[in-house]
Amino acid sequence: MLQKSRNGKGRSVLVAGGAGFVGSHLCDALLSRGDRVLCVDSFITGSVTNVQPLANHPQFRLIEADICDLRSIDEPVDQIYNLACAASPPQYQADPVHTMMTCVAGTGNLLALAEYHNASFLQASTSEVYGDPAEHPQREDYRGNVSCTGPRACYDEGKRAAEALCFDLVRAGRVDARVARIFNTYGPRMQPHDGRIISNLLVQAITGKPLTIYGSGQQTRSFCFVSDLVAGLMALMNVTPNPQGPVNLGNPGEFTINQLAEMVHAMVPTAARIAYHPLPQDDPQRRRPDISKAKDLLGWEPRVPLAEGLRQTAAWFIATLGTQPVSGKRRAPPSARTRRSNVSIGV
Ligand code: UDP
Repeated sequence: MLQKSRNGKGRSVLVAGGAGFVGSHLCDALLSRGDRVLCVDSFITGSVTNVQPLANHPQFRLIEADICDLRSIDEPVDQIYNLACAASPPQYQADPVHTMMTCVAGTGNLLALAEYHNASFLQASTSEVYGDPAEHPQREDYRGNVSCTGPRACYDEGKRAAEALCFDLVRAGRVDARVARIFNTYGPRMQPHDGRIISNLLVQAITGKPLTIYGSGQQTRSFCFVSDLVAGLMALMNVTPNPQGPVNLGNPGEFTINQLAEMVHAMVPTAARIAYHPLPQDDPQRRRPDISKAKDLLGWEPRVPLAEGLRQTAAWFIATLGTQPVSGKRRAPPSARTRRSNVSIGV
């Protein structure tokens, strides 16, 4: 049902990071519900390809801007989602100072906009605030085990500071801010070379390259399909009253990286072998969300099992690898394009 904004029309929603992987799916969902969407993106990791199909939608507007520089917008907004930040370890570590500033200065700018427009605000936080967790599964009241000086700190500590900003403004009664702690998410529109495990393994299997596993492969992650995550984000933004605390959003199904590689191997038959590499510094050993709070407060839980989500993601990579620019600018090499018709998904 279309919810009305304060002026009686459909809501105006600003999505920062709206051309990214999760952000573009959120834009789709908001538009299909009848909202007007202002998509703000710097295109550092977002891709215009993700929002190209929305270019002529009458309710969609694209603004190229970095949230670190965004001080005002020229129309009122009712809700602001902040999904603007590089999210894969190689990408957020490529310019760690900018990652930290995006989390702190960028989030501060968007919170100021939310206060000015009296808009509700949703911050995309992360399971990384739990660091390499000493408690398992992770509940929202666990304070985490983060290295504040390591190579992941720009993201982990940046996101922790962003949470602090949100809750300071909630306590002061200045902004209706909500915080989602997002666990590993995957699905169509992941960048083929963003360095995350699911995109790496699928692209490697499809292009016949060795499947890279860091460390022993016994470390675990819990993978949430993007449509489930988007439903959770929208539920959290719209729930009343404000939960006044962070909410985990993720799929509690927990898999070792070795198990994931086996699933990919079975799904995208490939002659490629597995290649083991050193484990990156501060790589968390276990991760699984406790989602009791999201179930209680939002009536939300994920619906898409990993095997089904992987199948959809593999199909998407197979269909697009040959035609879309890889990592934003380059086209996929001819070898990847010619392989396209030779690959099938075994389910
Ligand atoms: N990983 C891996 N091979 C890869 C990419 C990642 O074994 O090609 C591992 C990584 O070391 C981590 C897990 O897979 O233990 C998930 O990594 P990802 O970068 O997707 O996300 P993270 O949860 O670490 O932010």
